[in-house]
Amino acid sequence: MTTAESQLRADIVEVGRRMYARGYTASNDGNISVRLGSDRLLMTPKSVCKGFMTPDMMCITDLDGRKLQGDRDPSSEMLMHLEVYRQRPDVQAVVHAHPPTATGFAVAGIPLDRAVLAEVLTTLGSIPIAEYATPSTKELPEAVRKYIKAHDGMLLANHGALTVGTDLFSAYYKMETVEHFAKISLVARLLGGENLISRAEVLRLQELRGSYGIKAPAPICADDDAPASGDAALCQVVQAPEGSGSRLIPDTIERLPAAGDAGAGEIRLTYRQLSELIEDAIRNLR
Ligand SMILES: [Zn+2]
Repeated sequence: MTTAESQLRADIVEVGRRMYARGYTASNDGNISVRLGSDRLLMTPKSVCKGFMTPDMMCITDLDGRKLQGDRDPSSEMLMHLEVYRQRPDVQAVVHAHPPTATGFAVAGIPLDRAVLAEVLTTLGSIPIAEYATPSTKELPEAVRKYIKAHDGMLLANHGALTVGTDLFSAYYKMETVEHFAKISLVARLLGGENLISRAEVLRLQELRGSYGIKAPAPICADDDAPASGDAALCQVVQAPEGSGSRLIPDTIERLPAAGDAGAGEIRLTYRQLSELIEDAIRNLR
């Protein structure tokens, strides 16, 4: 075994341990793979807890998923990993997990596509939701194919999240960013909603990427060239309003009235008043 291979095995073990420790996976959830040279992959095996792996557990497969080495079978989501490597020659590593807050957004059908945090806009851009597919079947790579050319991170509807990178740790850090972003978005929405970063500021942040050495996978879609359903996305949809000079713009989505918020169309009744209204309505029905 080469030094590079033994290092990658150790790195997968380390990433698995961190994902499990941070609650991104429970039980045997999640999977990790990395390119081993130009024609092979090193991958976590099926049915093991990612928090308790050892370097010898990993499988080596070719790019068609044929097992070349390893006592165990490769990950049950191998087809999804293979599809990513096929579509993205630049990608060196793929991480899949079920981080609970991001997965909550995936279950609620809410993409993480709002311009809210500079570090998300410069590293991932927007995080769409790949449509629901039965895990471990070939439906999942088909769902992922729509977004993978233009995105380094995506949610998988009612399932989890997927991130990719030019090395294993960058793919893993993107998983951290997705979950962190989901937590912040949730808190902001509980507090009444996000202020959005204006489109001009988003473009400015994207230009700064170059100076940080961060490569974006795809440009932001113009308002009228968002991908049609079924088409592969070649640009990213980012919710960033045109601001008239201001760089932060209050979100315009309909907000739930906050407690004590008068004049938001809210009617407050005591239990007694409500009972009287219902009784009244029933009397009128007779
Ligand atoms: Zn999964």
